[in-house]
Amino acid sequence: MPQLFKNDKLKITLNKKGYNRYTKISFPVKYGIYSEIETKDYIFQFNANNEIIRAKGKNYTWINPSEWLKRTIGNDWIYYSTGGYTGVFESIGEYYLPNLQYPTNSLIGGKPFKEPDINNIITKWHSIIDKITKENKLLNHSDKFQTFIDKVLENSPKRLSEKSEQLIKISGRRVSVLPPDARHVDYDIIPVNISKGCLYNCKFCRVKTEEPFSLIKKDEILNQIKELKNLYGKDIVNYNSVFLGEHDALNAPSDLIMFAAEQSYSQFDFKHSYMESSNLFMFGSVDALLNKSTDDFDKFATLPYHIYINIGLESVDQETLDFLGKPLTSRKVIEAYKLIRNINIKYDNIEISSNFIMDDILPKNHYSSFFKLLEKECRLFKNKGDIYLSPLRINKPSREEIFKFNEIKIKSPVPTFLYIIQRL
Ligand code: SF4
Repeated sequence: MPQLFKNDKLKITLNKKGYNRYTKISFPVKYGIYSEIETKDYIFQFNANNEIIRAKGKNYTWINPSEWLKRTIGNDWIYYSTGGYTGVFESIGEYYLPNLQYPTNSLIGGKPFKEPDINNIITKWHSIIDKITKENKLLNHSDKFQTFIDKVLENSPKRLSEKSEQLIKISGRRVSVLPPDARHVDYDIIPVNISKGCLYNCKFCRVKTEEPFSLIKKDEILNQIKELKNLYGKDIVNYNSVFLGEHDALNAPSDLIMFAAEQSYSQFDFKHSYMESSNLFMFGSVDALLNKSTDDFDKFATLPYHIYINIGLESVDQETLDFLGKPLTSRKVIEAYKLIRNINIKYDNIEISSNFIMDDILPKNHYSSFFKLLEKECRLFKNKGDIYLSPLRINKPSREEIFKFNEIKIKSPVPTFLYIIQRL
């Protein structure tokens, strides 16, 4: 049961129960079990470890009352904006647009981090809470509310930054990109690396590690899971999703994928998560996909997860693939897309999405070959297997590219969205 403290300056609610199912809805939804401090000017929310996770301003200068800040486990602040309701849902499949503090490929969004109110929360949330709770004499040190405040203040910006460094240490390096389908769980995932690097080292790619593909041994995976369990701490109850990294987990042998998926499910105790159902995300390459057998996918389908696999196809046009420096033939891309469609039809709990590049500097056959493929392969099956379009150039919001995207989206027979590259 939530516990409440209230006076005329401060309201503290412990153990609030947010939504326990990820949903797409046009008003702000808060997930998981969290605690809240509300003052005249602000609302701050904290996870089960008493670490700040969300905040917003309450006065009239705050951009929009339904917009808020979220802090990730990687210690990034993200500003969720409505985008003025101008096509955000149509563009990204979500009602709120994540504005990121680092360079990304988003075509939409403003510059919210330049707003004084937003900057104020990011830089001063700790001293604001410190001041208001010290001024508030109604709390005494034996009180559970004071204990909560003490723990909140212990989790200072410095400590939270150190914790994100620990996460990077466990993973070996920062998770530079999350699969686009992770939007279905608001990117609330636990990253377990089962492999490093990737097969292709494509020229156009900005997230690659430039390291050849290699596998991580089972005992190291178990060690990661143990350390991640400690790091996520009590808040693990608010998680129901694992991301098997790094850039091509699908290229790992099936028994390693099964091992990591099963161990994650049991060690993170997803069965008893506050959040309903469990999800597994991974990236895969065209070759990894083509090398998997029906038996492999039959095995994956037995896992207690909804499995989202994201494959980077980039283009059906050979000239474009060469232009991008992606060492693939268009024949393989077509073969992979047919397989993606068949898997999406066959398995209820496996969904494969694909990425294509968009940009006005691409060779002219890029778009025509893309539509030809979709029209041919998706005539009878249209409701699963999102297509994500990723602008080639980063930090180049562009009206022309948005028009182009809308044109593609209207013509595309399958759900098509912009892929905003987000890290952990
Ligand atoms: S697009 Fe994928 S396969 Fe190509 S370099 Fe980037 S991570 Fe590696």
